[in-house]
Amino acid sequence: MGIDVGATTIAGGLVTGAGDVLEVLQAPTHRHGPGTAVETLFEVVDDLLVKTAGTGLTLTGVGVGVPGAIDPEKGVMVKPPHHPVPELADLRLGEQISTRTGLPAFVDNDANALALGESTFGLARGAASLVLLAVGTNIGGGIIHDGRVVRGHAGFGGELGHVPINFDGPACFCGGKGCLGMYLGGAQMALEARRRIDPLRSSALLTLAGGEASAITSTTVFEAARAGDPVARAMVEEACEALGASLGGIVNGMNPEVVIITGGVAESLLPLETDILQRVRRYAYAPALSNTRISIVPTDKRRSMRGAAALVLYELGHRGRREA
Ligand SMILES: [Zn+2]
Repeated sequence: MGIDVGATTIAGGLVTGAGDVLEVLQAPTHRHGPGTAVETLFEVVDDLLVKTAGTGLTLTGVGVGVPGAIDPEKGVMVKPPHHPVPELADLRLGEQISTRTGLPAFVDNDANALALGESTFGLARGAASLVLLAVGTNIGGGIIHDGRVVRGHAGFGGELGHVPINFDGPACFCGGKGCLGMYLGGAQMALEARRRIDPLRSSALLTLAGGEASAITSTTVFEAARAGDPVARAMVEEACEALGASLGGIVNGMNPEVVIITGGVAESLLPLETDILQRVRRYAYAPALSNTRISIVPTDKRRSMRGAAALVLYELGHRGRREA
């Protein structure tokens, strides 16, 4: 069972050992009101157990991806400032789900789960090292090195959205400044576009948002840039350059075999792939880059569920090895 807990939706599915997603359930994260994500999560788990009963399938375990860093000592989500699902923090969710279901249950950062999904079933299958960037509202990251997830000393391994790419850049909610997420994260792009446009002048950016500045999203910014809007073009140029510099840092710092850029903004980045790869060349060691496979992959909830299910296989595999 693979479950993805997002800020707005909890999506759960039954995933086969080959990575096929069979059953899919989705529920609004806060359908019972603010602070009720854990209740919804347990309901999705229970509903999937009921669905499993009729299929003749045997459940191996439950994997859950959550939008936050996991403290490796305590196994609980660390609550960063302004978190969309703060009620998930400081709970031993894995233990609670395990008690509820009688199955092994594991919780990890959602981008770590996505990276495990890609290395177990997807584009990085067979590769020893992978760096995944999940570009959505904010930017998450997952690193797999020599087949192990790099969780870091305090669980913040792979927080690549908060690696500064401009030491003079704007303040970020993480406490730093000039982070990649300030230039490429969906929420920040939307805010910045609303700040930069002149609401009294007609522009493609405003027209695409139906004349309402508050309706501008990162998707609108990318569309308006394609239509030649100067504000949007400047922002997309900055976003691509920021991504290019970040990928240069990733390639030079970790020399991974595969890099995957996914998440809700990936669809908008896909038509810019050639441009982005050209920018990476300006920042990365050429011989390291020439041996790195970089892919931009639009995402969907199934990919996240598959990732959470891959977490179960990963943890059971490693536990087995430790016990042997
Ligand atoms: Zn930051």
